[in-house]
Amino acid sequence: MNSEDLFVEARKYLPGGVDSPVRLFSPYPFFTKKGQGSMIWDVDGNCYIDHCLGYGPVILGHGHEDVVKVIGEQLSMGTIYGTPTENEIELAKMVVERTPCVEMVRFVNSGSEATMSAIRLARGFTGRNKIIKFDGAYHGCHDDVLVKSGSDGVGKPDSLGVPEDSAKNTFSIPFNDEETLSHLVDKHGKEIAAIIVEPVMGNVGCLQPKPGFLKFLREVTNENDILLIFDEVITGFRLAYGSAQEYFNVKPDLVTFGKILGGGFPIGAFGGGKKIMNMIAPSGGVYQAGTFNGNPISISGGITTLKVLNHSVYDSINEKGGFLRRCISDSIADLSLDLSSVGLGSMFQIYFRGGDILNYEDVKKSDLDKFNSYFKALLKNGVFIPPSQFECCFISNAHDHETLEKTANIIHNALKKVFK
Ligand SMILES: *Cc1c(COP(=O)(O)O)cnc(C)c1O
Repeated sequence: MNSEDLFVEARKYLPGGVDSPVRLFSPYPFFTKKGQGSMIWDVDGNCYIDHCLGYGPVILGHGHEDVVKVIGEQLSMGTIYGTPTENEIELAKMVVERTPCVEMVRFVNSGSEATMSAIRLARGFTGRNKIIKFDGAYHGCHDDVLVKSGSDGVGKPDSLGVPEDSAKNTFSIPFNDEETLSHLVDKHGKEIAAIIVEPVMGNVGCLQPKPGFLKFLREVTNENDILLIFDEVITGFRLAYGSAQEYFNVKPDLVTFGKILGGGFPIGAFGGGKKIMNMIAPSGGVYQAGTFNGNPISISGGITTLKVLNHSVYDSINEKGGFLRRCISDSIADLSLDLSSVGLGSMFQIYFRGGDILNYEDVKKSDLDKFNSYFKALLKNGVFIPPSQFECCFISNAHDHETLEKTANIIHNALKKVFK
């Protein structure tokens, strides 16, 4: 069956025909047959340079030889035991060694579980109930964070099924806005357990903190005994050897990881200093558990991936990111378009508007129709990016300069076509 037929079939059995909403695009998503290196192939016989990369995890490219080998070996020895394994210690040590704020870590199964547990831990540790997040930030799909801003930043449910009563415990305010945050903390500081922030907002495109903003968050939280949680599910092991906290030189109290950490297999993790982390069950009273926590496949995938990701890989992949962003900026200038090429490290995106972009409100003013035409033009010419202005595009270490030049050309031609 081709993608069109498969989508008809899928919609009979899977709500919307997909297992996660972002995967849906019109008229129907392509169904993937395989991936290798920087490329993926659909069942219709098309092949694409992949800049979606599973929404971030695939930093070494699809089917990396070391990962395939290690997972094959692990598979033949069983996939889950319900007992501790030595490899969990090894991956934990690697995370601790790389990550400034981490002395101990708990492995879970997804980024959503990681943020859910980190928030519970922050509440348990501080004895406070409220949290602050930023408008447009994505921290997974649980009640505490499926919350948008109501009056005075008091949270309102951002999904059916999220109780008003639970949404009220989450404030949501604009990113990069020190004044609003100060006001909120002046008024409610003693009730606030944590501020949770994506150091780079990868779920509204690719939005950077303005200089000093993360340091400001660190100061405000220190002064008010609030915990600072960096949600590094995207930036973790992507931006630098020591993740965004190393890149921006700001040390949070807790960090959440996911995506890259499993080497392409489902995983999440949260970590921090010993004093806080020892509050997690069974050593402490904050409950967290999981049948598949620390499962041998994801842990092996993670160990193998982090072994490959040494300092020189980050130098190389970040240089490639710089190269592609320069090409995109040049195209935008050549074509005299009022668009913004954004990104850092191996992350990139084009905002379909010009001017300063500091927060979600600004991103929402992008020309979404034009973005959609751009996405389709890329797809038609063999480049796959996430089908949304509010997602981030990625580069893997398997993307060489020749591939990136192709991407750059296809982007140039797509922009030309969209704005002709
Ligand atoms: C993807 C993502 C999550 C959720 O992770 P899942 O593994 O999809 O549950 C949480 N936070 C951020 C910043 C993410 O990008």
